[in-house]
Amino acid sequence: MTTQIPTPYFVIDEPTLQRYYDMLADSLAQNWPNYLIGYSFKTNSLPWLVSFVKRNGSYAEVVSEDEYLLAKYLGFSDHEIIYNGPYKSRKSFENVLLAGGYVNLDSRQELEWLTALAGSMPDRTFKVGIRANFELEKMCPGETTMGEASGRFGFCYETGRFADAVETIRRLPNVQIAGLHLHSSSKTRSVGIFRAIARMACHLQEEFSFTLEYVDLGGGYCGGMEGRPEYPDYFPVVARELSRCFSPDQTRLIVEPGISLISKCTTFVTSVFDTRDIKGTRYLMTDGSRFNIDPTMIKNSHLFHIEYKADYTKKRPIMEQQIVSGFTCMEVDRLFTHTRQPELVPGDRIIYENVGGYTMSLNPLFIQYFPAVYVQNEEKMKLVRRKWTPEDYVQGSILTDEEL
Ligand SMILES: *Cc1c(COP(=O)(O)O)cnc(C)c1O
Repeated sequence: MTTQIPTPYFVIDEPTLQRYYDMLADSLAQNWPNYLIGYSFKTNSLPWLVSFVKRNGSYAEVVSEDEYLLAKYLGFSDHEIIYNGPYKSRKSFENVLLAGGYVNLDSRQELEWLTALAGSMPDRTFKVGIRANFELEKMCPGETTMGEASGRFGFCYETGRFADAVETIRRLPNVQIAGLHLHSSSKTRSVGIFRAIARMACHLQEEFSFTLEYVDLGGGYCGGMEGRPEYPDYFPVVARELSRCFSPDQTRLIVEPGISLISKCTTFVTSVFDTRDIKGTRYLMTDGSRFNIDPTMIKNSHLFHIEYKADYTKKRPIMEQQIVSGFTCMEVDRLFTHTRQPELVPGDRIIYENVGGYTMSLNPLFIQYFPAVYVQNEEKMKLVRRKWTPEDYVQGSILTDEEL
């Protein structure tokens, strides 16, 4: 069972992952039967996870050439790529366009690449999407990540850059604007955010008389969080808005889930390896670091549970405060304060929950290398990434014999 495996390690519970995937797919199928799921690579591109979503019918949503190449390496064809973001390479941009994948334009540079490509192949037709940058904050005050300031991505609707981009593309005789991309990040991940995004899609469709093959709402949903929306809460509302201007016969709904799909199914198992008292403060030194589960240093609380060491028979006094810290040599590597709880001792385990998104993909190679990842299926634990070793770390380094 789990307790024999040396910590630290991540565990992905496959039945839970499948349940969330099916919940998403079913909710889409019921509300907008013409849908496509593009899994957000940046949220967690662990190869096992990517293969899981691929087997279940997802396309790859990528935002860089490296992610594009990873998608290709893991078996996606160019037409199964949704290519977003400001940092595409020209070659991969062209590959996806030529194969009929989904390219959502984000910059003037990409308009130039498109113009050149379409000009050089006048007998071919091309379909593109455009990412719209718009004032979501006005529609949902206090809810967006960028707040009153503007977002950085896509073509700004309010300043006319979006209209300029539309005009530029419409001058190209063999290019069609086939899609809109409206991903926006929000603090709340509320149903209202997605209602507003769907409303904006309609607004743009009406203003520019688009005939769209797809509307891409992006990612940013909640999933597996107590008291927060789940997939079935979003899509009836989104479908109601979209059906004012679109129909599933003509227009595909694309979603790009990341964290909502994988959060609930992923845990991180750590152990206390030392305790120390310094000026009246009890520190618990653990083999998991804040860098493993909060690499962007934004969390102020964690969901977790504790497994007390089985063979420890002494009575555990209640401690006022125990500061749970990581193994690294940085003072900020403190995870949380455990208040008025039984004393923890070396060998006790702290298991963090809901840690699937923006953790493995953002882990640094700092002091310890990447921890192992297991996939759990009922009682079976399957290793899907072994712990990284110095051999993995030195890959790509160039050292001559004399330097070694
Ligand atoms: C980050 C991102 C996603 C996924 O976001 P989650 O919050 O993980 O659901 C999807 N699409 C785009 C364009 C993104 O940048």
